[in-house]
Amino acid sequence: MAAATHADAFAGLARSAVLDACTSCGECLRACPMAAPAGLADADAAGVTGGVLAILRGQPATPEARRWTEVCSGSGLCIPACPEGVNPRLMLSLARGMLRHAESEAAARQAGTRSFTSMARAVKAFSRLMLDAQTIARIHPPGRPSPAAPADAAPEFVFYTGCNVIRTPHIALVALDILERLEVRYAVAGGPSTCCGVYQMGSGDLEGAGRISGSTLGKLAAHGAPRVLAWCPSCQVQLGEVQLPAHARAAGGDAPFTIAPYFEYLDSRFDELAAMFVHRVEKRVALSERTGMPAVNRAVKRLLGAVPGVEFVELETPRAGLMSVHLSALPAFKTDLLAAELRAAAAAGVTTLATVFHACHREVVRFERETEFEILNVMEIFAASMGIACEDLYKQMTRLADVDAVLAQHAASLAGSGMPMAELRETLVADLFPSR
Ligand code: SF4
Ligand code: SF4
Repeated sequence: MAAATHADAFAGLARSAVLDACTSCGECLRACPMAAPAGLADADAAGVTGGVLAILRGQPATPEARRWTEVCSGSGLCIPACPEGVNPRLMLSLARGMLRHAESEAAARQAGTRSFTSMARAVKAFSRLMLDAQTIARIHPPGRPSPAAPADAAPEFVFYTGCNVIRTPHIALVALDILERLEVRYAVAGGPSTCCGVYQMGSGDLEGAGRISGSTLGKLAAHGAPRVLAWCPSCQVQLGEVQLPAHARAAGGDAPFTIAPYFEYLDSRFDELAAMFVHRVEKRVALSERTGMPAVNRAVKRLLGAVPGVEFVELETPRAGLMSVHLSALPAFKTDLLAAELRAAAAAGVTTLATVFHACHREVVRFERETEFEILNVMEIFAASMGIACEDLYKQMTRLADVDAVLAQHAASLAGSGMPMAELRETLVADLFPSR
């Protein structure tokens, strides 16, 4: 970035995207599903939003403004509520990062490193247990892309798989297989060495977030494609709403590419895809749905409607968040939302509750043991209709009795992997068998 520091660049984005336009009307807080469970239902909305603006100006945080920045789950319901065209989700993301950065840069750096390392360990553990090297490289291609190809050879887009979808590899592999069927010229980027910077940004390590995202944006741009499709909504928000605008603004130029969700691209190829849904999938399906990406929800429902045999059921149940994991700042609220969704699905008599994103899938699929219906990812339904083979290896692990059974079943993959056993056990338990 041309700004003196990455922190300066984020402050510049806060000025131009939020402070110059926000009137502290409070409509975003009134629309926010996290406000009531966070104890902010009776707070003065204009005062709380004014407190968030104070954080962005580098002034002390009020307790209410701090609370709101801590619990924002990326629901996005605030975005259409803003009469001034501000993106309050960006406002909260910048305020959370800037507040933690201002309190202690060293603590922010440590927290960012801790959460990134924990993610990278889990990615390594699950990918090595479940996949061969060739399949890992298909989802997370190693190395840097070669310099931009001539325009006529450049890919139409880069499919950015992010870091974590590989923990549920069947989802990523079907996503890739669908692109193959669509006969599009595309490149793939992803893996912890191509991270969007969300772990550092959320922890307040603004320099780390700017550095990591800058490296990733450079790698994505090197493919020479005019756009990037993100699988992960967290990457989409982090790169699309925060990092790409911050870097472009600091460099004084336009962003080198646009970024959009993968499912929006599938929606743009709807007719061709619908023609490929040739096998009947006799299921009564509801979505395990979050609110952060409404266009994705619409695209997924439209595609499900084109699968012969699928009867889609809309569930009337409260919803929030970008993915299930983003609700973790309010654990009781998160548990209640999920329980309500499972109850609504049972009451609607569905055969199938379908998750959309990988992180929701990891959290929701465990409940299949307790439900009358199956829990799948939507990609499995599309795969079945298109005749693409896929197998949910992650769900199979959750169905084993304990971590010892997982390790025994995957002993062959473990041999010679060099993964420290204590670290591996800890990673698997945290993911597959968390205490509730
Ligand atoms: S993104 Fe969602 S959780 Fe965050 S402030 Fe907006 S409505 Fe609230
Ligand atoms: S971000 Fe928009 S909705 Fe929220 S206080 Fe500012 S002007 Fe009002």
